[in-house]
Amino acid sequence: MTNKNSHPIVSDFSLAYGRQRSAIRELFEYGKTKAREIGNEYIFDFSIGNPSVPPPHQVDEAFSSLLAECDPIALHGYTSAPGDFEVRKAIAAQLNLEYGTSFDESSLYISCGAAAALSTTFRALSISGEANEFITLAPYFPEYKCFVEGHGAKLVIIPPKLPDFGISLEAIDRAITAATRAIILNSPNNPTGRVYKKEELEALAALLRKKSAAIGHPLFIVSDEPYRELVYDGIVTPFIPLIYENTIICYSYSKVFSMPGERIGYILVNPRAEAARDIYDAIAGSARSLGYVCAPSLIQRVIARCVNTRPNLEPYDLNRKTMYEGLTAVGYECVRPEGAFYMFVKAPGGDAQAFSDHARLRYNLLVVPSESFGCPGYLRLSYCVSLERIKSSLPLFDMCLKSFNS
Ligand code: PLP
Repeated sequence: MTNKNSHPIVSDFSLAYGRQRSAIRELFEYGKTKAREIGNEYIFDFSIGNPSVPPPHQVDEAFSSLLAECDPIALHGYTSAPGDFEVRKAIAAQLNLEYGTSFDESSLYISCGAAAALSTTFRALSISGEANEFITLAPYFPEYKCFVEGHGAKLVIIPPKLPDFGISLEAIDRAITAATRAIILNSPNNPTGRVYKKEELEALAALLRKKSAAIGHPLFIVSDEPYRELVYDGIVTPFIPLIYENTIICYSYSKVFSMPGERIGYILVNPRAEAARDIYDAIAGSARSLGYVCAPSLIQRVIARCVNTRPNLEPYDLNRKTMYEGLTAVGYECVRPEGAFYMFVKAPGGDAQAFSDHARLRYNLLVVPSESFGCPGYLRLSYCVSLERIKSSLPLFDMCLKSFNS
């Protein structure tokens, strides 16, 4: 964008990202507009990952009791930049209880959700004047590209490992260069619902140690964990700092406590990581330069009162089973999710955009084509909607498939 003298007025990067909506947001906005026209009951919106289960009652109780009990000046005031000391202490204690670790508040930086945690971390790890690369495994959360490129770094994409969407060590081995700073992991995964097993992570850790020694600087795992506790069938998400020392966790309460609009999460720098103190301080500087100041004060204190609360997974589990069984019964090929609340479905005919358009225009079924996840040929369905919505959508999915094929 230039003025009449051809002088740039705004950043090309910002303008491009500001104008180009994500495929998910595009469908979500379409659904809202269409619902106003024809009524919400006729729109089957599986586009966005907005939790459909209310926050645990402890969350609402914490809000009410804090408002009733606390000095409002302190409650709504700035906290220290890394987050309130007592809040960080409470989170450290919860992690130590759960994983047998011995973290303290000095390893935790409270953030405005995982998005801010990731962006802050990528900035902190990007070295001025050098090429910086972050590796991600497809399919990946599309916003990584914006978060990484926002700091002048490059997102390096590893193609999907089929058929199980596991970790392709050979491809990672080939992708690592002297410019690699970290590999981004997201497990439970959006969009596949895959949870990496301990053995897969141990094999990755061994590779990263070997490659770090070869290139002469540490390779970090940046573990994006908004779905850590959203797991089914008795699966437990392995805790990566116990497997690989150079780990930075970007955690979020958005999904687990059904509060994505409240913007709260944290960054954990494993104290066993190389240069852990420098990383933590760089994260502080990065958050400062991005203008975060501190995470919302009231919500921080809500979290401190609820750290040991666990979400009610039953509704999501029932949705998962109903959707998986309903779709596979009529001929869709789905990845059976182990966690999170997304179903990754093979696009009938292979052209995900064409199928998504057909589903939207003929049946008001909003399903996200997978191109922007770096894995063409699939559809992502967020099953965090009501069970009734899923049940009433299944005959439409059946008709959609038959009419697409005919
Ligand atoms: N990472 C992944 C994989 C996500 O799915 C999301 C949100 O959907 C985020 C990060 C961002 O989450 P937050 O709301 O905590 O910023």
